[in-house]
Amino acid sequence: MSEIRLDGQVAVVTGAGRGLGREHALLLGARGAAVVVNDLGGALDGAGGEASPAEQVVAQIRAAGGTATVDTNDVSTPESASRIVATATETYGRLDILVNNAGILRDRSMAKLTPEEIGSVLDVHLGGTIWTSRAAWPVMTGQGYGRIINTTSAAGLFGNFGQTGYAAAKAGIWGVTKTLAIEGARNGIQVNAIEPGARTRMTENLLGDLADRLDPSLVAPVVLWLAARECATTGEVYNVGGGRVARVVIAQTPGFFSREITAEALRDGWDALNDPGRAEVMTTFQQEMGVLVGLLADGDPSA
Ligand code: NAD
Repeated sequence: MSEIRLDGQVAVVTGAGRGLGREHALLLGARGAAVVVNDLGGALDGAGGEASPAEQVVAQIRAAGGTATVDTNDVSTPESASRIVATATETYGRLDILVNNAGILRDRSMAKLTPEEIGSVLDVHLGGTIWTSRAAWPVMTGQGYGRIINTTSAAGLFGNFGQTGYAAAKAGIWGVTKTLAIEGARNGIQVNAIEPGARTRMTENLLGDLADRLDPSLVAPVVLWLAARECATTGEVYNVGGGRVARVVIAQTPGFFSREITAEALRDGWDALNDPGRAEVMTTFQQEMGVLVGLLADGDPSA
């Protein structure tokens, strides 16, 4: 089996001083990429900051024979996110791979949520993903090549108690991933997302007995594959954890159709409408629209 290599390529991994980002950075560095290890080194809720987590990861990559540099800029503002990309272009001359991973948690149920808490979570996760991608975009477009791997979450896809801000940010990252995949296609930029599960400081109190089997290093190979030149996938989301990887899809049931639609007809057809048994995977807006166009053409003589 030939090894996937990234020699000559440059990667930025945000939030790479700890947890999942650290593992992504170590693996990309081990496969030959020059890695910008970005991390402002704050607490789980985003407070404070120190360079040492990023410095330790850089030291580890270098000790293994790789190339890496520290960046301690904050992902959450357009100006500082631009400086992260500038670290890559000024130090190594290009940027091939951007892994948007940095994140914080400020969980609070709706009754207690403050604007400041929700704002900071949206700024770091959703803002951070958008601002670093925006800064990377002209570089990748100019190269005609780029790989962006974003980080969403089960909370964003399914919801989770006490995580309104986090879920909003992570669901937003799904939308950003789909949209940038469409926009990037003409310039060789592929954009995907992972929905990870791993033991880190963010989850260590939540995983119970599973924690020992959810090492964060089991997620990094998916990031390496999505970052590889030979991977042709774009616009997808993968659930990853503990050695399992699965594609997350959006599906629609065949639904209800009548040009004489009434609430009563819906009531009577509700169970059939909701039955996922014949659901179809939908990958584009055009595919969804096509179903309606087909029904209108077939089902209504006046259409
Ligand atoms: P972690 O707290 O171990 O690592 C996150 C890192 O991001 C930290 O080192 C932190 O200093 C850094 N960071 C935070 N704000 C930053 C900012 N503004 N600029 C730059 N760096 C910043 O957590 P983790 O579990 O490794 O999380 C990594 C990503 O994976 C996050 O986006 C998280 O939401 C997501 N995620 C994790 C899990 C899981 O099971 N661990 C599940 C779903 C999603």
